[in-house]
Amino acid sequence: MSEAGEEKGQGDAHVKYMKESSSKDEDEGSKQSKQATEDEGKLGGPRFSPPLYRQRYMFCADILEKHGIKSVVDFGCAECQIMMYLRQVACLERIGLVDRDVVTLELSKHKIQPLITDHLDPRDNPLTVEMYLGSVTDYDPRVAQCDAVTMIELIEHLTEPELKSFPDAIFGRICPRLILITTPNADFNQLFPDLTGFRHWDHKFEWTTEEFQNWCRAQADKYEYDVEFSGVGMGPPGSEPLGYCSQAAIFVSKSPTSSSPLLPSLSSSPPCDGDFKYTLISSAVHPHKTEKFTLEEKMLLEVNYCLNHLSKDPLYSESWENAVLPIGNLHKYVKLKELFKTEEDLRFFLADRGYPLTPDSTSVIFRIEEEGEEEEEEGEGVEWGYQPMEPPNNDGQFSDAEEDLLPWNPPESEECWPEIV
Ligand code: SAM
Repeated sequence: MSEAGEEKGQGDAHVKYMKESSSKDEDEGSKQSKQATEDEGKLGGPRFSPPLYRQRYMFCADILEKHGIKSVVDFGCAECQIMMYLRQVACLERIGLVDRDVVTLELSKHKIQPLITDHLDPRDNPLTVEMYLGSVTDYDPRVAQCDAVTMIELIEHLTEPELKSFPDAIFGRICPRLILITTPNADFNQLFPDLTGFRHWDHKFEWTTEEFQNWCRAQADKYEYDVEFSGVGMGPPGSEPLGYCSQAAIFVSKSPTSSSPLLPSLSSSPPCDGDFKYTLISSAVHPHKTEKFTLEEKMLLEVNYCLNHLSKDPLYSESWENAVLPIGNLHKYVKLKELFKTEEDLRFFLADRGYPLTPDSTSVIFRIEEEGEEEEEEGEGVEWGYQPMEPPNNDGQFSDAEEDLLPWNPPESEECWPEIV
């Protein structure tokens, strides 16, 4: 079981209070988590194990599972760290991730792709993941039919006008069956001796338990939801009256529609292009046991599988980070030959779908996840998806890559998994 799975198995009882200590030896978490993810471990107060940001994801995944949620949209997804927990929620069939920070999304989009383990042990249910650039204050019909919306440590980043307007987009127009909101509990801040001001430089406010609960009850009344309060991260013995470090509200609609099937497919025609407020950054189709893929999905899965397979050959490693994979050799995979009649067809598909090619278009530049990078650290294993990178400058550095190659032996057809019917 992955680390995430083990943690999850511990249920709510996992929340351990640890002795106060300086933030220097704080669990590093991921490198990116230092940038946007709320990390209370840096505040010099109570320490939590697992770190609180992970406990929030686990809490969220537990709730989605408990409510049998099939489709969820996570607003303010930042580096998409929640993906490692959401991908383990068996009932989920569709995940939408929305953030307004395009740089963070671009840097994190590989995280929505299936992992090796997802291919080796496919899910029972299909799973599609879509990542959008957009704001929680805007309504976009592509995420309109979701069962649940989550906002993990997001609302405190909203300006006053945004805080006023977003409930109309979420509660009023999407009207999901379930809404989960977490936010820092200002009452708890007195346990952080190093804290001056708010917990994060970008926070516009931090609410006490009373302020948060009053706001939530007002939304629940206005939009006809029931609301329950909970949270993650209890302080040391004696601090119970302060409540949780991160407070949470779980809204359940009083008039739930039946659990939605999949959201309208991305490829289905939009109601009206002009209605689209978000920009699609990336999407991924995860393998599952009863695969009935569209041709496009089959092609993407096979291409990603074969790119990963080929990139394991040290012959093609440009560096520890990149592999330069000749399209001619890629096309020797039996499954790719079946799907793409000619090497030229494959090249066109790769270019059209945004795979970075060498300047002479003979090879794909493929990013290899480094050992010790975040996914490894989180116990997830190696990423199995398309891991794009910036195309190189046209300085010819890759132009003769093919000439350096040793003769190529095409793999046996059995190697080219998954079998697609
Ligand atoms: N939910 C993530 C987590 O728990 O790890 C990260 C939360 S991070 C502290 C807040 C994120 O909200 C940032 O990535 C920021 O770009 C995003 N954000 C701020 N305002 C937003 C808005 N109006 N719509 C969507 N995302 C927004």
